[in-house]
Amino acid sequence: MKTREVFGFNLEMTKHLMKASPKYIIVNSIDSVVGTASTVLQILFYQKLIDLVIYSEPSIAKIAVSFLLYYLLCSAAKAFNHWVTLVFNEKEKRRIYLYYKKMIYTESVKKKIEKYSSETYRNMLHNAVYHNGDYLYSFAVQLLGLMSSVISFLSVLYLFQRLHFIFVFAAVISAVKNCVCSSRVNKLKYEMHQVNMMIERCNTYIYNLFYFKKYIRELRFYPIGNYFISQYARLKELWWQKNKKMTIRRGCEDLICKAADLLIYASNVVVLMLLLVRGEITVGEFSMVLTNFVLLSSYIERIIMFFPAVWDGAKYMKDISDVIHSENYCLKEVKNETAADDSQGACIKCENLCFSYDGKNNVLNNVTAVLPLTKKIAVVGENGSGKTTFVKLLLGLYTPTAGTIEYCCPDRHIKNNMELFSVMLQDYRIFALSVADNILPFPDENGKKRINDAICFCGLEEKVRTLPQGADTILTGEFLEEGICLSGGEQQKTAIARAHAKNRPVLILDEPSGRLDPLSERRLIEKINHLSADKSVILVTHNLTYTKNADLVLYFENGAIAECGSPQQLISCKGRYEKMLSEQMKRMEAEA
Ligand code: ADP
Repeated sequence: MKTREVFGFNLEMTKHLMKASPKYIIVNSIDSVVGTASTVLQILFYQKLIDLVIYSEPSIAKIAVSFLLYYLLCSAAKAFNHWVTLVFNEKEKRRIYLYYKKMIYTESVKKKIEKYSSETYRNMLHNAVYHNGDYLYSFAVQLLGLMSSVISFLSVLYLFQRLHFIFVFAAVISAVKNCVCSSRVNKLKYEMHQVNMMIERCNTYIYNLFYFKKYIRELRFYPIGNYFISQYARLKELWWQKNKKMTIRRGCEDLICKAADLLIYASNVVVLMLLLVRGEITVGEFSMVLTNFVLLSSYIERIIMFFPAVWDGAKYMKDISDVIHSENYCLKEVKNETAADDSQGACIKCENLCFSYDGKNNVLNNVTAVLPLTKKIAVVGENGSGKTTFVKLLLGLYTPTAGTIEYCCPDRHIKNNMELFSVMLQDYRIFALSVADNILPFPDENGKKRINDAICFCGLEEKVRTLPQGADTILTGEFLEEGICLSGGEQQKTAIARAHAKNRPVLILDEPSGRLDPLSERRLIEKINHLSADKSVILVTHNLTYTKNADLVLYFENGAIAECGSPQQLISCKGRYEKMLSEQMKRMEAEA
């Protein structure tokens, strides 16, 4: 990774940290200074005490008073440190985590849907979302650790170099050795992390299968649980195959490091004994070096390690930064002026639209159409002919691989496609919120009226009346035990109500009646037909009997518009539409 990049990521994280909790930096800096003062006091106190006892004849009272003073000061410093680490930092950690989650969740919602097809992006997102702000927090810990280590190092260095510079030299050697060891460990850890990211993500998928009710039900009736358990075993085996060598290498390197530690300690003892025998140091100083050598070395180590740690951290932060900075979806501009040669009024113009999900096979081929936005439009065709994909392109969820979509709404003051559409797609989701919030989240007074209208529109009013808290009843048991479950059809009605309550000029409904009973289905279609004239409806359906009242029908086949016109025109052409319609009429007559 380039130095500039590392610097950039760290600067970015520092900015986030300063926004998340500036107090965290200030209080921990004070704690570092207090901690260093307490360490120096401790070192000097024991050294002087040993020398005092061995070389002078101190009074018990003098020793007791010094002990008391030492004890009070150190306890106060410890108490402050405890408050900082146990109370203050925990509180601020929550704030930092929350800030992080908010940032990453907000950003992830903005990304282009196409990104989710890329495994690299999904790995990155998994890394950024699942790691609960650890990186941001550990970056803060490292930054403060560096500052505290520098202050402590300078103070302890002064005490050591007074005796003999050789100890400082030995401490540097020990620290460098530790740094080499731990940077190798970190490198290995990162390699393992990279190797395991895909395994981790697949594991989460399997975990979800056995955690979520929706999957458990399916697994009970459709015996694929064992298959996924065997997949889990395969992933574990894969993990071991990929990590075996690295784990053994890690163990061997650890052993070498421990042997080097022992050698440095023994050399120190030999030098100290020589100096003591020659009378160059006191017993107190002998003890001071022996007990605090590791401390000095650890300060040096922390200072040196800050840089590789920042480097390693940057690799993880790259995922976060990449998610934040990867391409967002773009709102599509809506033209409000009428062009001089434009006689079509409010409309969506599609020209030569092509689209491919995988970059290889086109799902839509050269789709050209003008959709007038004062009309009821039906999009029909066989399964897989590209109807939903077409609608998703209109919504701006995907970007066409070729061709253009133009949105024209003269005199409507609509800025972008978000303001133009309300939509119910086939793969809608019901959230762990109240019925009302599922329809229109956190509404004002006017919003409540819109919710009630929407409930009537989709035919859910009877059901809502029977719910314990009416529209305020919570759905799903994720957060509340008493959360209730709606039937499949009722969930679909809720999704339709959500689209209706949004109240935008164009209502898009993708197979809205798939899960409705025939009566509800008929009532819904009637309501759609009687929607006010200034509202356009784009209805995607395979039930052609409901398209007879449409102003315009687009018949899709193999990703292209095969027929286009009013239902009457298409019937008189005796083409595909007419064939499918008469097929459905025959079936209905046979069923009647
Ligand atoms: P329809 O709505 O007419 O039933 P779709 O537009 O949903 O058809 O799908 C058209 C084709 O695109 C199908 O063959 C389907 O396999 C493919 N397709 C749909 N969604 C995706 C997706 N998210 N990723 C890859 N291929 C998709």
